[in-house]
Amino acid sequence: MASKEQLRKVALYCDEYSSNLDKRQSLTSSFEEKYENCTNCKHYTKEGKCDLNLIDKVLTSMSMDQEFKS
Ligand code: SF4
Repeated sequence: MASKEQLRKVALYCDEYSSNLDKRQSLTSSFEEKYENCTNCKHYTKEGKCDLNLIDKVLTSMSMDQEFKS
């Protein structure tokens, strides 16, 4: 299970991220909610999973990225 911090990073790296907040709603929502985050993505399910199953894939490619940099 990915942590909140991970879900935020995943959304930044994910090509399929698509916000489910409409613009009017995002104007009134908190700063935190405006951030890209899997939990704001329309592919994120109530069960806390990605319906495209991309969370693990993105996390893996992120960690590979970090290995390259180090
Ligand atoms: S829920 Fe899935 S599609 Fe949406 S940003 Fe996260 S990994 Fe990507």
